[in-house]
Amino acid sequence: MSAMVDGGSDGATVNARQKLIERLGFDPEEMRRKYREERDKRLRPEADRQFTKMEGGLEELATDPHVKEPISRAPLQDEVEAVVVGGGLSGLVIATRLRQSGLRKVRIIEAGGDLGGSWYWNDYPGIMCDVESYIYMPMLEEMGYVPTERYASGPEIQRHCRAIGEKFGLYEDACFQTQVTEMHWSDEDARWTVQTDRDDVITAQFVIVAIGGLNRGRLPQLPGLEKFSGRTFHTSRWDYDYTGGDYKGGLTGLKDKRVGMIGTGATAVQVAPHLGQWAKEFFVFQRTPASVDIRANRPTDSEWAKSLEPGWQYDRMENFNRITSGIPVEHDAVNDGWTDNFKTLYLGDGAKKFEDLGLSPAELGEAADFQKMADIRERVASIVKDPETAQALMPYFPQFCKRPCFHDEYLENFNRPNVHLVDTMGRGVEAFTEKGVMVGGKEYELDCVVFATGFEPNVRAPRFTNVGGFEIYGRDGLKLSEKWSAGARSLHGQHVHGFPNLMIVSPIQSAYAFNWLYIINGQAAQVEYIIREAKERGLRTFEVTEPAEQEWVNKIIERSGVQRDFLASCTPGYFNGEGKLSDTIIVDSAYAGGNVDYFEELKKWREAGTLSGLQLEN
Ligand code: NDP
Repeated sequence: MSAMVDGGSDGATVNARQKLIERLGFDPEEMRRKYREERDKRLRPEADRQFTKMEGGLEELATDPHVKEPISRAPLQDEVEAVVVGGGLSGLVIATRLRQSGLRKVRIIEAGGDLGGSWYWNDYPGIMCDVESYIYMPMLEEMGYVPTERYASGPEIQRHCRAIGEKFGLYEDACFQTQVTEMHWSDEDARWTVQTDRDDVITAQFVIVAIGGLNRGRLPQLPGLEKFSGRTFHTSRWDYDYTGGDYKGGLTGLKDKRVGMIGTGATAVQVAPHLGQWAKEFFVFQRTPASVDIRANRPTDSEWAKSLEPGWQYDRMENFNRITSGIPVEHDAVNDGWTDNFKTLYLGDGAKKFEDLGLSPAELGEAADFQKMADIRERVASIVKDPETAQALMPYFPQFCKRPCFHDEYLENFNRPNVHLVDTMGRGVEAFTEKGVMVGGKEYELDCVVFATGFEPNVRAPRFTNVGGFEIYGRDGLKLSEKWSAGARSLHGQHVHGFPNLMIVSPIQSAYAFNWLYIINGQAAQVEYIIREAKERGLRTFEVTEPAEQEWVNKIIERSGVQRDFLASCTPGYFNGEGKLSDTIIVDSAYAGGNVDYFEELKKWREAGTLSGLQLEN
């Protein structure tokens, strides 16, 4: 903060500070202190090592509840043109584009029992996409489909994924319930060999790794979990056999149960109203309150759907992406909580209230964020009747430290007599006992505990192969996990020197967007272009050169400082390594120019037509 608002002797300055306090309704200095205190009490020395995967005795929690009878098949030993690892949104869009560009044998290898990725695994009660489905669901125009609701349910999205798979022949060569275990490059054959947990040995000229950003559920490492005699499961493995009902609710199995939920992130916000409605008693164990704004879901207006002109999805997505990249546009096509946030915080709407106070741009931005979060807290106070509960549900951090949530029943749920907020004061649940969980030295007896504790984020290079669950051995046996142990090295986030004919789709050194489909579409266009060129030019291999890789790494490093400072000041969460920024955060960042610049750069690269930076071998 500059001296102007912070104090100083001159009358005008004091006056400006006073006005800022009056308009906000609080002293910014005190709010900054409050944010710091709230963050500091959540910092843990073990940072993201506080979590564990569902393995090492916890495998049962990772079992696929959708697969009632595991398939049995003979191991495959064959060759395809391209292997796509992952059948989520990225994998299926990329596989479709490759099929459309003339590849006949494109094999998706997917651990789950069907296409859909996140939308396959997550089918918890209340699941819906928190980004507008008209811009989030892939290929709507090609599929001739308009979602039934503005924010579609998870099963509607998964059905759409299946429909894409059927229309574009993706099922023909796909392997489901199959986990890649390792893959090796052979210089001699100019082929990848992909091995799986079903003893498949599949060779392919091209491999695309599209494993998603949040594909592995994580649990807090809590002592005593093995002693707990009740039922536990993670939200990404919902146990409807136990709870009854389905994603719409009707959890009749919980009518006589005391249910606890650990976590209050974007998933928990969608689940909690259903647990509150059906459980006999429902305890929400909160470490950090979520920022929960208005959702306003609604059925699709059929007249509107009929009026859509060709190109509508691309235009709408582009419009949303520009606003959420902080680029002004004349018209806000989506006009929802996401775009409102960006217009308020980054496009000047929120700053208007303070414009006459002579604040710097940074101060104006901070004031707008303070105001936004005050409005979010005010929303809590206006909905939640018990003042103590309302107070505990109020978030104190800048809006984009965590993923903002939008829901119209989450807060209301706390007005039910059977719903109890257990505010752990930033410390979290401490342990399990035979009968329940411990918080602040008190035992809560429970029949069932739902872990809404999120996923291992695939945003840092050293984690990448860990999250995928397999190792990639490039030229001369070079391991990707070793090459990336001190941070990513790539061209465009997609090509890695030493790993010919391999392309990666992830946010690392590429791009990030709140509407992930935007990134998928852009990355898929690049993959399609390169593989088509490779085919047309009759290339054996393409591989990024070391200098081109270095040049991209330098570009990533050059402009990443701002993000680091912001994340460092944030309350812990998966965006900032649970409060401990990894040493590789700068080099693993998404392209700091933003996704618009990133894709502009890729477009120019394609238009040049030289495959610049790639060494090509015929
Ligand atoms: P998150 O990682 O966002 O949240 C995990 C929650 O668990 C946090 O509230 C965390 O608290 C809490 N937690 C962890 N350990 C403990 C503990 N020991 N005691 C108490 N609480 C604990 O996971 P989510 O599954 O909610 O969301 C992950 C991501 O998935 C989202 O950010 C989003 O990208 C995606 N998602 C997308 C949706 C969509 O519609 N597109 C819907 C839902 C999720 P704390 O905050 O203190 O760390």
